[in-house]
Amino acid sequence: MSDSLADPRLLNQHPREWPNWFQKRGAPAFQGRNAARWVFQRGATSWKEMTDLPAALRTQLEEEQPLITAACEARSEAEDGAIKLLLRLPDGASVEAVGMPGTMGRTLCLSSQVGCAVRCTFCASGMEGMERNLSRAEILEQALYLRREQGEFHRIVMMGMGEPGHNLDAVLAALDSLIDPEGMNFAARRVTLSTVGPKGALEQIATWGKSINLALSVHAPNDSLRHELVPGVRKRPLSDTLDEADRLFATTGREYTVEYVLLAGINDQHAHAGALAEQLRNRRCHINLHGQSVQYTSIVINTFKRC
Ligand code: SF4
Repeated sequence: MSDSLADPRLLNQHPREWPNWFQKRGAPAFQGRNAARWVFQRGATSWKEMTDLPAALRTQLEEEQPLITAACEARSEAEDGAIKLLLRLPDGASVEAVGMPGTMGRTLCLSSQVGCAVRCTFCASGMEGMERNLSRAEILEQALYLRREQGEFHRIVMMGMGEPGHNLDAVLAALDSLIDPEGMNFAARRVTLSTVGPKGALEQIATWGKSINLALSVHAPNDSLRHELVPGVRKRPLSDTLDEADRLFATTGREYTVEYVLLAGINDQHAHAGALAEQLRNRRCHINLHGQSVQYTSIVINTFKRC
């Protein structure tokens, strides 16, 4: 168990443990089930909203065990309706959570760490390095805040600040709370976890066993360029990571997506497209190209089609 899971606060417990948590405080177990319904299904973010709990218990818990400990310090809204929240954590660290509009409904983009050790050259989150992991509760608080702001949502993507594969115990625990019928009862197939695929991470997801989607951050077609652009993967061969992704697909039955940020003059040449297509030959995956260049995008797509 990671340190982040050792935190005894309620939101760090699996929803099925909430009745026990209440019993340990001398309250009946059914009140724990009610509290889980209040939080995960009815959107409560404070004890005082749970009007079917005794008033004295609500007051006591509000003082001793605040349900939410992050404070929303800033909120910005883009023209397309995307909302970004800056949440201040009790130790002074801050984290961003984003809600984005989409044709099927809103998508929540959640962070998994404060900072990031992977230090991708094109990403601001990695510039300062890694500060600390978020706990299960701190990941869940982002979803609860965003739902309060924007109502129900259609997808969750673990693509915010941090590398989920470096904090997998807490990330999977948070997803457990969201997916479990006693929690938010959110469909696993509408969850996507984005990762560079640190050693053992994809195996751990396979063992966990929920059929979430994998977005594999590749960004380069060969090891030398990938190690330059994504230094945190260290010397891990891309082919090993892709093999692990294939094994995860065999377990979950969900094809993974290869994420590739097009960087002008760095990884967007014809030769890169060919090398990427070679790496992905005979693998069951999609490619998601990020970038402005229609020309380079079509080169990659056309080259991939020929393989
Ligand atoms: S792994 Fe993600 S959060 Fe970390 S530096 Fe790379 S792009 Fe940024």
